[in-house]
Order: sequence, then C-alpha cells, then structure tokens
Amino acid sequence: MRGKLKRYLSQDGAVVCSVLDGTEMCREMERIHKTSAVCSAALGRLSMAASLIGYTLKNEGDSVTVRLDGGGPAGILLAVADHLGNVKSYIDHPILELPLNGKGKLDVAGAVGTDGTLFVIKDLGMKEPYSGQTALVSGEIAEDVTQYFAESEQIPTACGLGVLVNPDLTVAFAGGYLVQLLPFAPEEDIAQLEENLKEITSVTELLQKGLSAEDIAEKLMNGLRAELLDESEPAYACDCSRERTEKMLRALDVKTLREMAEEMPEIEVCCHFCTNRYVFTPQEIAAMADEKEQHIIKNKNNTEK
Ligand SMILES: [Zn+2]
Repeated sequence: MRGKLKRYLSQDGAVVCSVLDGTEMCREMERIHKTSAVCSAALGRLSMAASLIGYTLKNEGDSVTVRLDGGGPAGILLAVADHLGNVKSYIDHPILELPLNGKGKLDVAGAVGTDGTLFVIKDLGMKEPYSGQTALVSGEIAEDVTQYFAESEQIPTACGLGVLVNPDLTVAFAGGYLVQLLPFAPEEDIAQLEENLKEITSVTELLQKGLSAEDIAEKLMNGLRAELLDESEPAYACDCSRERTEKMLRALDVKTLREMAEEMPEIEVCCHFCTNRYVFTPQEIAAMADEKEQHIIKNKNNTEK
C-alpha cells in the first residue's frame, strides 16, 4: 500500500499546496522500527516533512535529508526522501516512553528536545549538496519546518504534520501539508490562507473523519481556485542492497578490514533504515582487504616512478 501526495497551484500561480496522506508510510515505519507511541509521532512527522520537501525537488536522483538533533532523549532523528516523496527514516532510541504533554497529546517536543537544530540537506546531483539549518523553535517539527523555510530559504510556509497512534501502537492515521507562497503572492491570497488555516486544526482529525488528501487541499486552498498540478504515491522505501553494503565495506581502511576478518566468525551489516541484514564471510572481507592492499601498492609504485 502506498500513500497519496497531491500538489495544487492557485489560479494566480502564487500559492503551492501539497497534501500528504502518510498513513501507509508511517504504518510501515512503525512496523520496521517498532517505535513507541511518542516516537511514532516524532519520526512519522519528520518522515512526512521529508517526503513533502522531497516532492518539491525537480529531478530524478535528487534527494533530501532532514536531520533533527534536538538534544532530547530520543536522540537524533533522520529522514531521507526522493523527488517522488518516497522516504526512509531512522531514530536513535525508538522505544522511548514519555507521559502525555500538558495538552494530553504525545509529547513529541519532550522526546526530540527543543534545544538544537533542524538540518536540511538537498542533494541535487551537483558537486556540493545544498544545506540549510535552523534552530528549533518548538520541537513539534511542523513549526520547525516552517521556521526553516522562512529563515533559510526565505519562503513563507505553513506546515502541518500529525500522527495518530492506536492503543496497540500501530498507526491509525498520519498526514501532513506544506503550503508555500511565491514572492509575488498578493495580500488577498495571504489573508485568505490565514482564514483557511484556522479551519485546519489537525490533519489526523480530518483523515479520521474520512477526508482524503484532496478534500484537505480543498480546505487549505479554499477561495484560491486551485488546480491539481501533479500527484505521487509515495511509500516508506529503502534502497539498500548487498552491492551498496559491499561498497561501504570497501571504503574502510585495510587495517579495519583485516581486523574484522580475523576477529569475527561472520560480518553482519544491518541497515539502519529498514533493518535488512547483509552477511559477509571473513574470507570475503579478507579478499576486500587484499584487493585494497594491491591497489595501494600499485598506486604507490605509480607515484614513485
Ligand atoms: Zn535498508
């Protein structure tokens, strides 16, 4: 099962609105990471933020990494998305339990912390990736994303993100939106948007009532004569493979590879994002060290000539 991500543009071309039904994406995330309720909310929100930001990228091969380092007990949270909004994510401490916050809600800010930074790194296939960062304003993630766009990209943005967790810890509903104003947006668009946003108190509440991503976009873009620009069906998806893992191992230095080959009966590499395991024998690792050593000697001979 995949999610729904729909992007709309106002008739005057000044307002872009993306709405994501991330229920399936967050269900898969919870299934993989076995997150506690508050961590499902935190990582789910960050994953959907990355998915929405990823969908703003233009080209195949572009990706965005959103990293939240807030100094809280959940540790560092990381989400990586492609240009279609497909996402994979990771949290240091997935089974953290915290009491509900003062509003009776899952205490996301308490889990991720409020004293830290939100990093956004866009890999657009150029030599240097584009990267921006902002100090956290609330640790509730949506506000921090809004702040990031205002501060780092100078784009007025409204963001909403929500994850509703069932008593059995599975994800009931999850969704989010990103509304962005272009520099020439007229005052009346801004006023209309402010009115519309007052109606959207909680994305998960709307999803629970049976509204689709399209219905939510209609509410957000009310009075702006919006039209569907494009759509995607993003999922929680990891692109790891045995080949990629081998490449990563080959990047280690000879000494480390030799030690691994000598000391371990088998070398198991576990993917942080999907928990897939790749097993290598000591012989395979030793062969990598041999190849690397020969390569080094060859290079050394070349430079000495
Ligand atoms: Zn993986």
